[in-house]
Amino acid sequence: MKPHDVIVVGGGVIGLTTAYFLAKEGASVLLCDQGKVGMESSWAGAGIIPPSNPDHAQLPLDRLRALSSANFPALSKELQERTGIDNGYVRCGGLEFGIEHAAMPADEWYGLGVTINRLSEKDVARMEPNIAANVGTALEIPEMAQLRNPHHVRALKAACLSTGRFALREDVPVSSLHCQANRVQGIRVGDEILSGGAVLVAAGAWTDRLLQPLGVHLKIEPVRGQIALLNPGAMLFRHILISGAQYLVPRLDGRVLIGSTEEHVGFDKATTAEAIDGLLALGVRLVPRLAGAALERTWAGLRPGSPDGLPFLGPVPGVTGLCVAAGHFRAGIQLSIGTAILLKEMLLGQQPTMPADAFRLAR
Ligand SMILES: Cc1cc2nc3c(=O)[nH]c(=O)nc-3n(C[C@H](O)[C@H](O)[C@H](O)COP(=O)(O)OP(=O)(O)OC[C@H]3O[C@@H](n4cnc5c(N)ncnc54)[C@H](O)[C@@H]3O)c2cc1C
Repeated sequence: MKPHDVIVVGGGVIGLTTAYFLAKEGASVLLCDQGKVGMESSWAGAGIIPPSNPDHAQLPLDRLRALSSANFPALSKELQERTGIDNGYVRCGGLEFGIEHAAMPADEWYGLGVTINRLSEKDVARMEPNIAANVGTALEIPEMAQLRNPHHVRALKAACLSTGRFALREDVPVSSLHCQANRVQGIRVGDEILSGGAVLVAAGAWTDRLLQPLGVHLKIEPVRGQIALLNPGAMLFRHILISGAQYLVPRLDGRVLIGSTEEHVGFDKATTAEAIDGLLALGVRLVPRLAGAALERTWAGLRPGSPDGLPFLGPVPGVTGLCVAAGHFRAGIQLSIGTAILLKEMLLGQQPTMPADAFRLAR
């Protein structure tokens, strides 16, 4: 008998959500993180959850997103009931600008069975009076939601601990995976070997470091994203405002988070004058009253980028008992529930809710 049914390496939103679903079904889970759980990309992200409709989604990524977004309201409620922690999930709606210049933003939503409304400049002004008059028409996505990442990961950690089937080791870097006779036996932590029936690698941008000694090269790379947090002292707008790959997210306390960049600079989490300057300029261009807001904080996180933009979900070929869930790039929060459902099913040998073939490692 192994002391743990499953060992999860990495306590970001992917590792924590999967651990929670496993432990809720009675599996004994040990989760190890090289730092404190939920303090990397999953802490740094903006928490935007775009809507998706399970009855319409066709592409594998859309289906995975739909499986997640359909379950966010229920999981958020469940986490609050179990832990008393409100993850801040709210359907605040989104406004996407720049649609007259590019066909893409609108096309992106068509066929997904998601409500979208085209708004004139007048509609925008009526809906959000603090938005600059000259930003043009917009696409309204009323079901777009957000959550507060730090609250969500804190709630997940507390929920895992509440199951009674979950053990946590923080500040312990897993140095390697322990395999014998083409089977994973556990993990190495310092001089110790911790045994488990199965191992899930959910180590975000660091995943390749653990897999390379096994000859597995997924090419997951860190992609830095910077964020600026402003406090205007009052609620200036209620929708998430999107312009290309950048956005303004209004928190319920009036603070505004502006993100983000996409930078290939290795494992460097510094913020830079140029990037923050660009984010602030976008903020003031869309909402001129932000010019007087206090700049409270800046930070950066390392997204786990995959070569084709899809996450890797599933078993490592040739190594029984070893699975990966990583490479969610800009969508790890929004895909976390679907990912955790699929990985829980794989690890417990259950019938899959949806095919995961598109996400297999050898694709
Ligand atoms: C600025 C920014 C904005 C974003 N906005 C959004 C958004 O609006 N919506 C959305 O859905 N997504 C967003 N994302 C992306 C999302 O945050 C990520 O896709 C997601 O957090 C990835 O989760 P993860 O659990 O795979 O990785 P992480 O959260 O990075 O967790 C990996 C964990 O593994 C641990 N680890 C690594 N190696 C080891 C080891 N050897 N031993 C033990 N532990 C190890 C790390 O310490 C870490 O805690 C954003 C990301 C950034 C940076």
